[in-house]
Amino acid sequence: WFLTRALPVLKNGEVLKWIGTSTDINEFKNLVTQKDTFLGIASHELKTPLTSLKLYAQVLERMLKKTGDEKNAEFAKKMDLQVVKLTSLIGDLLDVTKINSGKIHLNESDFDFEKLVLETVEELQMSTLHKIKLKTENVGTVFADRERISQVITNLISNAIKYSPDAVEILVDIKNEGNFAIFTVEDFGIGMPEDKKAKVFEQYYRVSGDEQNTFPGLGLGLYIAAQIVERSNGKIWVESTLGKGSTFCFSLPLVDRKIN
Ligand code: ADP
Repeated sequence: WFLTRALPVLKNGEVLKWIGTSTDINEFKNLVTQKDTFLGIASHELKTPLTSLKLYAQVLERMLKKTGDEKNAEFAKKMDLQVVKLTSLIGDLLDVTKINSGKIHLNESDFDFEKLVLETVEELQMSTLHKIKLKTENVGTVFADRERISQVITNLISNAIKYSPDAVEILVDIKNEGNFAIFTVEDFGIGMPEDKKAKVFEQYYRVSGDEQNTFPGLGLGLYIAAQIVERSNGKIWVESTLGKGSTFCFSLPLVDRKIN
């Protein structure tokens, strides 16, 4: 790092003197690498016991249901849901270490975008009371990592649900625009201030505020989503009004533009 400030400049534009301070950031870089390595190992180690926990919770739920113990079966189901949440948090930490070390691998193929959105929404609808209103059309084929794009859709819809606790519905829509498929999710929740819109895609960034602080999170989901979309040659953006709601969108290039 070299912070330099130019001092007097001659009439011909030539700089007479420079002053500067130099700081060796190698130590800082090493610390960041160590932090990422630690996060990677810790997340990986945490995943294994969670996989067994999930299995036990599911077996327990089934057994309790068989014996007609609906109340305890419900507890076992809640345990399972908490394990799913933990697994997803750990998955985010692992993804970030992969992204930061340039080791994220995208398993790309051609797939039908509408089909993936339908599948992902169907899955999400099972675990939320919000009505996910879906408007789709056959937008065509995209070339990307199907699982990773499903992760992006899941993240955006889950955020829409999470940040609109008093709303009853969220709107999901896909369409064609030029040579791109556009995915949109609109919620009627807490929204965010205009000047925070670009920041939410940064690593560990969370909007602060009395209301915002009541929602738990690591501030990683949108960073990961943005990295995946950008590496798939798409764009991600948000429109939002504080107190009214947000609309998150992303685009992906189409392989074969649908001709109407
Ligand atoms: P997390 O939700 O874990 O904090 P994200 O990366 O998914 O992390 O989101 C970053 C921040 O962006 C959130 O902390 C929140 O402040 C804001 N945000 C994301 N989605 C929404 C939304 N639908 N409505 C309002 N704010 C949102």
